[in-house]
Order: sequence, then structure tokens, then C-alpha cells
Amino acid sequence: MTLPEASATSRRNFPASIDIVIPSYNEAATLPITAPAIIEFLQMVIASEGASCRLRLILVDDGSRDETWATICALTREFPEVTGLKLARNYGHQNALLAGLAHANAEVTISIDADLQDDLAAMGSMIERYCEGAEIVFGVREERTADRLFKRATAIGFYRFMKAIKIDLVHNHADYRLMSRKAIEALMRHDEANLFLRGLISTMGFSTAVVTYDRAPRIAGETSYTLRKMIGLALTGLLAFSTIPLRLIAITGLIASLISLCVAFWVIASTIFNRAYIVPGWASILLPISLFASLQMLSAGIIGEYVGRIYLEVKRRPRFLVDRVESGAETSNEAAQPRA
Ligand code: UDP
Ligand code: MG
Repeated sequence: MTLPEASATSRRNFPASIDIVIPSYNEAATLPITAPAIIEFLQMVIASEGASCRLRLILVDDGSRDETWATICALTREFPEVTGLKLARNYGHQNALLAGLAHANAEVTISIDADLQDDLAAMGSMIERYCEGAEIVFGVREERTADRLFKRATAIGFYRFMKAIKIDLVHNHADYRLMSRKAIEALMRHDEANLFLRGLISTMGFSTAVVTYDRAPRIAGETSYTLRKMIGLALTGLLAFSTIPLRLIAITGLIASLISLCVAFWVIASTIFNRAYIVPGWASILLPISLFASLQMLSAGIIGEYVGRIYLEVKRRPRFLVDRVESGAETSNEAAQPRA
């Protein structure tokens, strides 16, 4: 391992190599703009530092249904910096990102979306923070007026909820971040199938820093984060990092038992002291039955979510399979990847 504290505090040189990972699903319209923009920007940064640095863009095609792979292949021919990674099918944003990170081997790796909603200029500050000693630099969206109201409201609700149940997330940080080689290696030692990278990385420790930027609208194309995908990600984030929902079930069960005990006393007392009162009491029967039945179903559902996730973890299926790798003139068929 590296030196303990000294390396975290002393200033580092500009990184000798930078990998940029871009998960892409149906991004044929954005990649021809995004890839050259990133290359141009970083080459400018590298030149202004007078540094010698190997730059590589890893474009991960997450089983797109449009011309994304053909676009990536064209980009690899046009730019020697571009490497294309074609996944065997659509694995979702988090797994596509992991596939790219697993492929990266540079001194620092930056992950960014294909749509340039995240400000490129922040990359310069991220590298600066890295040179100051940070192992992980989180890009944080300061202003998100460019997002639709619905997206904004759901995102704000999500971060508030996570905070309320004590899941340690960097507020308003998505997956725009810089990670050092050490941090990537640490991440790769995590083996979980239910991936919520921003939660996982927040729990890793290391010296971290934050860079803020304003979020822009997509340069082209449509968001592929449908409501269903957003709920899926939020559920993974919640269930993979917290057992509080299970505890809530237990607490609700306790309260429900206390209430039913009171009802039982009331029924007994009514039967003894006021027989007539209990006769028209259909409501007092129906209400608890429906209430408790629905509570039981809800509880079974929450437990079921955890059991389902345990099931997926236990199977230890690969989190992604790489179909092809393309860089410059080279093309290769990749066999099934290890568990990355
Ligand atoms: N993405 C992916 N696989 C998916 C869905 C999305 O790799 O199944 C990529 C997408 O191409 C983009 C990033 O994840 O680079 C974020 O997606 P998007 O911009 O659609 O989400 P939003 O910014 O609206 O949250
Ligand atoms: Mg986007």
C-alpha cells in the first residue's frame, strides 16, 4: 500500500494518466459532441500544466438500441484516445459505469454522463483537488434549474429521505466524480450485485473533496432515466444500505399489537358491562381486520424486497459481460469478465 498520511497531505504532481468513463445508453446523438469536447478540454488542461499525461476515454455501450456502438466505433477511428466497450446487453447505468471503472487503469479516473449535463470545467478543479491529496472528488450539482421540475422534486425528496434514514450520501452528487487508482481498487473489492455506487463510495472513507458546478440541460437526446428506473435506483440505494425499513416493520408490529390489546380489553369490557353496545359493532371488526391485514402485506412486501436482494447477491452472477472492446485499429472479443 502507499505511505499512510504523508501522501494525503503532500502535493502530488499532475497525474501521468487519466481515464474518463462514460456509460452510454442510446447516446448516438450526444457522443459525437461529448467525446471531442472532453478530449479538447482535457488536452487544454494538460497543455496549460505543461504536463505529459496519457488521456483515454472509455465509452461503455450499455446495450443501446440505437446507433451508439457504430458511433463509438467511428470515434475510436477518429480519436486515438477513445476506447469502446460494448456490453452484452443493457445492464443499467450503475453496472455500465462499473464496467468502465473495471476497465480503467489510469492514475486517476473520472466518470461522467454522456449528455454533458455536468460541467466539464469541474474536471479541472477535480484534478486540482487530486493534486492536493484527495483520493475521491465528488462533483456536486449546486444549481439544477436546468432539470425538469419533476426530476428536481424527486431528486430533492430522495436526498432528504436518505438523510432522514441516516444513509450517508454526498448531497446532490450523482456519478460525476474523480477516483484515484487506490480508490478504484478499493471499490473493486466490493462485490455486491445491488449496485448503488454513490452510496458505496461514500462509505469507503479516504480523503475526499467536493467540487460544485451548475447542471446544464442535455445537449441532445432524451433522458433514459424513466420514473421506473429512478424508483429502482432509489430502492436499491435504500435497501442496500439500510435495514431501517425492517426495523420500522417491527416497530409498527409492536404498536399494532398494543392497539389490538387495547381493542381486546375494550371488547371484553363491553361484553361484560354493555352487551347491547357490541352487537352493531361490525365496524370494530372490519376495521382492525383490514388494517392489520394490509400492514401484514406491507411488511411481507418489505421483507420480500430484502429477500429478493439476498437471492440476487447469493447467486453471484457477473454484474456485466463485455461483448467487444474496440480501440483505434484494434478490436477484440472479450470473454466473460470476472466479477470485476
Ligand atoms: N445510462 C446507461 N444505462 C442505462 C441508462 C442510462 O448507461 O440503462 C447512461 C446514459 O447514457 C447517461 C447516464 O447513464 O450517460 C445518465 O443517464 P440520463 O442522462 O438518461 O439520466 P439523467 O441525467 O436524466 O438522470
Ligand atoms: Mg443526464
